[in-house]
Parts: sequence; structure tokens; C-alpha cells
Amino acid sequence: MIRPLISLSILGRDQHQGGIGLANWKRTVNCGVLTASDSGSEVVLNGWVHRQRTFGDLVFIDLRDRTGLVQVVVDAKEAPELVTKANACKSEFVLSVRGAVRRRREGTENAQLNTGEIEVAAADIEILNSARNLPFTVSDEENMRLVDETLRVKFRYLDLRRPKMYAMLELRHNAVKRIRDYMSNQGFLEIETPIFTKSTPEGARDYLVPYRLEPGLFYALPQSPQQYKQLLMVAGCERYFQIARCFRDEAQRADRVPEFTQLDVEMSFVEQEDVLQVIEGMTIDVVSALSPKKMPTPFPRFSYDESMRRFGNDKPDIRFALELVDLSELASQSEFSVFRSALDAGGQVKAVRYPGGAALSRKEQDELQNFCKEFGAKGLGTIIVHEPTPTGIKSAISKFFSEEQLQQLLNLCEAQPNDLICIIADPKPKVVANVLSRLRNEIGTRCGFRDPSVLAFCIVTDFPLVQWDEETQRWDAEHHPFTMPYEDHLPYFDTDPSKIRAQCYDLVCNGQESGSGSIRVHRPDIQSKVFDLLGIDRETQQQRFGHILEAFSYGAPPHGGFATGIDRLLMNLLDEPNIREVIAFPKMGLGYDPMMDSPSTVDDAQLKELGLSIIKKEKSQAK
Ligand code: ASP
Repeated sequence: MIRPLISLSILGRDQHQGGIGLANWKRTVNCGVLTASDSGSEVVLNGWVHRQRTFGDLVFIDLRDRTGLVQVVVDAKEAPELVTKANACKSEFVLSVRGAVRRRREGTENAQLNTGEIEVAAADIEILNSARNLPFTVSDEENMRLVDETLRVKFRYLDLRRPKMYAMLELRHNAVKRIRDYMSNQGFLEIETPIFTKSTPEGARDYLVPYRLEPGLFYALPQSPQQYKQLLMVAGCERYFQIARCFRDEAQRADRVPEFTQLDVEMSFVEQEDVLQVIEGMTIDVVSALSPKKMPTPFPRFSYDESMRRFGNDKPDIRFALELVDLSELASQSEFSVFRSALDAGGQVKAVRYPGGAALSRKEQDELQNFCKEFGAKGLGTIIVHEPTPTGIKSAISKFFSEEQLQQLLNLCEAQPNDLICIIADPKPKVVANVLSRLRNEIGTRCGFRDPSVLAFCIVTDFPLVQWDEETQRWDAEHHPFTMPYEDHLPYFDTDPSKIRAQCYDLVCNGQESGSGSIRVHRPDIQSKVFDLLGIDRETQQQRFGHILEAFSYGAPPHGGFATGIDRLLMNLLDEPNIREVIAFPKMGLGYDPMMDSPSTVDDAQLKELGLSIIKKEKSQAK
């Protein structure tokens, strides 16, 4: 068949590279699946030039498609007419190769490659498209970490050509598919909820979309589908899930981006335990199918109070023990005024063991002091343990304790030879918890206690309903305002709201929050009471949440649910600390997308149509 030649000027390339169709050149098999058992077969391969090199009479092309690489050989002795073309095939050219699979010569096999036993002897090559020099080398995985991340995101369509990135996309697909299958098998229905909606508070700023037909009105993008899923329960759907995109305008961090994806779930006629069974069952199913990591089950459960007491935070990393030890009672009997005054002011004295910490130099101990001060401690008390006896220790504070008290302290801490006992005292229990939990995590890292082959999930329950915000001088929801308090805690609304515990729970993995949920308020009177406590007056309640209060008056069933982050799940499966590495097209810092160059300005005509005018900032903070 004769293919018409297309004029070079139409193609806009400086070099004609062949036809634009695939006639006669369609692949018969993928590159990465060929094995020795295919030897002798004729194939057509389609893919990209991963690498090309020449050795004497031979031109080697590693051809890549999404299944992997295969070595193509052009031998000047066998196919002299192909040599010039093969030499012209530079990195990332798009080729179709016709040839025969054959075993590699003995001694030239490549055990690193799935296709390493064979090669394809090219009989013909069609260049489907050329490629300019790339901004980074897709085939040089080792040096990719030297490439600036913004450059990678600007050319994400090239970055995603890397086999490592494709493997991530594939794993992500498999995880989502597994989740969908699991939830469907449990009788959940996948239902889509709107992206243009009204603010649902999850503690972040909203992204707003102006409404053209009536300037001054805005949609908000959902921070989560929270209200819709509850309304679906009022509607009688009973079991809902969605792989939901959520939008939150908040400070970006390594594990946070402005738009992210979560598995969102809601169920009717359930208690907390029913929901927890689903979270745990789904997580075990997905992780065990897709990851070789060890995952202790059943997931340990801690109440919020217990977690704070034992680990100093509500996201305990339970890959290692090292629990906090309360020395308050013992310290109250000591002569040490620093401890006594912290306790007299309602504070605490607590400690954590640092195994091997006795070997720290003076300078390293000072650095540890500074570490604690950075997180609000006034200082760090230390006991160097050579032997866990009052005479086997070295400490500036031991003189304030009797021998018997010291022994008791060492016993309480379960001190071992070579430990450094780290003690924090503060009038504010929150400061003690915060500093010691950070210290505990730091010690865990330094001692190599965070086994990377383990995914240690746990569930934390019974959070406070609200917490006091010193800055704004008001109560804030600990999770969100739709969380149901324990019934016997309802009287605390009028006496001491800090005591109200809620029927809510977090899923935690290796010390990071990976999901959360709650049993919801389904009675309008209790919902209004929660809004009242949060300082939302009745008129505002009607304006912002009238629809849900009204819905609750039409027979809302008791219900509850949860959401877990899909991006976070992938980070855990891949041991990846940077959330952008598990997202196809992520935003960089401050929400900037260097590939699309967004956010970007719009025409004056568009602004006018929307009834908007821009108040210019002195210096643009957009990027
Ligand atoms: N809406 C919550 C969130 O996005 C999850 C839930 O309570 O179901 O974090």
C-alpha cells in the first residue's frame, strides 16, 4: 500500500518522520511481555525509544511501552538498509518496529529485565513521531531525584512516562478498583454528588465559583460531600460511597494538597462499631491485596484520652512501644521547685525513655534541649542511666529525690542500661503531651524503630466534640459540626463543653491520620444545639444549614460514616512522604500548576460578565 506523503510544512516538523496513520504498523503485542517462549514469532511493537546505542555493526534500541522495555536490534549485516533509520531514532521518538523475537546470545542476557532473555531483530522500522531533546532524561531513573520537582510537574506528561510513575498510576487504579469492588460487595451504592455546591465546613477555606446570572452569588466547591451524603441517608439510600474529590483552601504541606481524593462513606441504622467494621475490613482487604507490607490486625483501638496519655497525641505511631510515663505523683513528693510549681499550676511531669541516649555527647544533649524548647518546653530534665539504680545514674535533678523515689522513678520508666530518661514538666498538660510525643517520634526515628516494612494501623475514638480556640475565643468543632455527642454528655453543653466526648473516630497509620468519621446528629434540636455552641446564631444556621435542619425534620434515620484519603493510602503503600508523587497532575506550593500555568488571569470581558472587578495586591502572591 502506498501512503500519501504529507508535506513537511503541514506537519510543522523539520524532518519528515513517516505517515500519520498506523496502517500496517499496529502493534501485535506489548514490549514488556515478551519472553523466551515467544522466540521465533513475528511481532509488531509500538512504543518510545527509551535508549539507543551503537556498537560496531549493531544498533540497539530499548523500546518502551507501558508494560516495559524490550531490546530491538538492527544488525548492519542482516538489514543494512535499516541502519541509517535506526541511527536517527533518538530518545523518546515514537516507533513501530516489525521484527522477529529471538533469544539473546549467551552471556548477553539481562536478568534485570523481564524481557532480558530475548531481543527483537528488526526487519523494518516506522518512525511515527520525532521528539525534541527532553528537559530531563526519562530513562535515567537514578538521577531523577536531582531534577527540580517544579520542572517535573511542568512537564508531567513526560515525567509520567517514567516506568516508576506509571507503576504508581497502576497501583492507584488497582487500589480504587479494589475499594469499589469491596464496597459494592458490601451493598454500598456509588453515588455522585455535586461539585458546585454550598460551603460545608471541614475547617478550611472554601474555593468559590462566581455565579454568572446573578453577580454576588457564589457556589463553593465541596470540602467534602458531608451534607450530601447525610441527605442521601435521609433519602433512604442506607449505604452510600463515592471516590470523591474534595477541595480545601489551606496551607500546603508535604502531605496536603488543595484538591484531593477520598473514599467517602455513609450508612444508616448503624452504631459506631458497624462503621468501624467497614473501615477496618476495607483497609485490610485493599492493603493485603496490594502490598507486601506487614499489617498487624485487628487494628488496635485507643480512646482519645488513652492515646494522649500513652503517646502524647491522637495519631500514635505504634510501630514502636516507648510510651510516655506519668511521673506527676512522684514529682509532687520531690524537692524540685520546677516540678512542684508546674504541678501546683495544674500541670504534669512526664517522661519518655531514649534507648541508647546515655551515649549522647554534651552537644547532642543540648540539641535535644533545643528540640524540646522549639515545641514549647521550658527545658528538658535528663537522667543518664548507666545502671538502673540510684547510684548507677547521672543527673542534675537526682539530688531533689530520695534514693527510694529515684528507684521508683527508674522502675516506672522501665529504665535500662544506656537509657537517657527525658522528663518534661509544664503547667499546661498540652505542652507536655506535644513535646513528649514529638520527642518520642524523634527517638523512634533515631533508634531505627520505624520498621518500613510495617503498616501499623490503629483507630482512635471518643474525641472531644469541641476545642477552645484561644485566638478567636470560641469553641471550634474538633471534627465537624455534624458529629453526634454521647447522649449522656449532652448536659455538658450547658456546664463544661470541653468535657463532651463525641462518637467519632480516626483511622491512623504509622502516626499519620488516614481517615476519620463519626456517628452523626440526626435530630434537628441537637444539631441546633451544636451550632449554638459553635457560636453560629439561629439566623445564620438557617441561612447556611437550613436545608439540613429541615431535612432532619422529615424522618432522618440514625446514621454515621467516614472518609479515608486515597492519596494518603497510596503514600503508605509506596512509602512516599510527598503527596504529589502519588497524584497524576498535582499542584505545587501555593496551589500553582506550572504545566497549565494556572491559576491565571481571565479576560476583562469575562470578569465583566461575572460582575467582578479585581482589587490588585501590591505584589502578586499567586505563585
Ligand atoms: N467529612 C469528613 C471528612 O471529609 C469525613 C466524615 O466525617 O465522614 O473528613
